[in-house]
Amino acid sequence: MSRVLVLDQQRRPLMPCTPARARLLLKQKKAAVWRHYPFTLILRVARPDAIVQPLRLKIDPGSKTSGLALVNDMTGELVWAAELTHRGEQVHKALQKRASVRRGRRQRHTRYRKPRFLNRRRPKGWLPPSLISRVLNVETWVARLMRWCPIGELSYEVARFDTQALQNPEIAGTAYQHGTLAGYELKEYLLLKWGHRCAYCKQTGVPLQVEHIVPKTRGGSNRVSNLTLACEQCNQKKGNRTAQEFGFPHLQAQAGLPFKDAAVLNSTRWALYERLKSSGLPIETSMGGRTKWNRKKRDIPKAHWLDAASIGQSTPPKVLWQHTHPLLIRAMGQQSRRMCRVDRRGFPRTRAKRKSTKHAFQTGDIVRAVVPARLKNPGVHVGRMASKASGSFTIATKRGTVTDIGYRYCTHLQRNDGYGYLIARKGGARLPPGLPMNCY
Ligand SMILES: [Zn+2]
Repeated sequence: MSRVLVLDQQRRPLMPCTPARARLLLKQKKAAVWRHYPFTLILRVARPDAIVQPLRLKIDPGSKTSGLALVNDMTGELVWAAELTHRGEQVHKALQKRASVRRGRRQRHTRYRKPRFLNRRRPKGWLPPSLISRVLNVETWVARLMRWCPIGELSYEVARFDTQALQNPEIAGTAYQHGTLAGYELKEYLLLKWGHRCAYCKQTGVPLQVEHIVPKTRGGSNRVSNLTLACEQCNQKKGNRTAQEFGFPHLQAQAGLPFKDAAVLNSTRWALYERLKSSGLPIETSMGGRTKWNRKKRDIPKAHWLDAASIGQSTPPKVLWQHTHPLLIRAMGQQSRRMCRVDRRGFPRTRAKRKSTKHAFQTGDIVRAVVPARLKNPGVHVGRMASKASGSFTIATKRGTVTDIGYRYCTHLQRNDGYGYLIARKGGARLPPGLPMNCY
């Protein structure tokens, strides 16, 4: 199991303990629950001279999901891990919707807000809202974890592949050699350049092999401009033919062009790196090729949280990850900025925004409801609640959604903090879309 985070009475982070020890501390009333997600205890006594071994927080930023891993470098233990699902797409959609409603109103010659476009100046290093939301998600979680566990150093994957090591692969003529660290960097480069798909049948989600456009037996080189990616089937079928003979003459031209978007792809990562520097902790930077190499050498399967654990040169020779269950965190957003809802035609449908707390509960609070047998939906329900003005709530539990739960029967486990939580089963199951985020 993942370890349980522990604070002393003065809220100083101590070494995370095992779940067994946590149970004992709670049973003997030596500690109380500080937070449910991630599960954190607070001791009833101050421990100013407790010895702590600083842990390493490793961060693998991703466009949809980022991996977080707390590793003890001395023992190689993966102390705690999480997958953080971002809401960049939702942010993008919400802004698009707002823009289209405004545009609609202008088209119809009804009352509208004048378009403003020449009075804007973007600050240096500006990122679109959908991207900055990812950066802020990770920044939030780094700050939180620094409050709840002793962190001595950060490891951060700044880029998918090492542009420095490759030194512009198309021009410098870096060669692909299987199994070397440079080979891994180059494979990542090729994956991005060819869009993670087979260059011939365009299939995605299959293992891709590095493939020579002009085969080596026909005098083709190992240089990047002669390489593409193919699924095993296409690779076999193509055999000893060149791409032109195989019926793909355009590939030859495409392979010769350098991949320009590399810098853009990594811009969010660098923005996050700049922000992480202000945490004051030393940061070890690394590249995606190294991560994959580390992971393969240690025989660790592919998952965001395990990728995070494999970042950087500091990765212990043996990572003990088998007993860790990652916490699945999903950014849910705090509230809506909309002042009131609009109808299909873009006119106000509801009254102006009012208080969001109802009977001291707010959407996003994690609650435990005990409903007596005589009422609808009797029993104990634990989960993330959605509040309604009437005071009868909807709770997303792990067994499904229950409705019409009166506020009188609810008690708080944790207040809304903008995130939903789920504890993954063994092996770190991927989060299915649309699954309610709740408690265990
Ligand atoms: Zn194929």
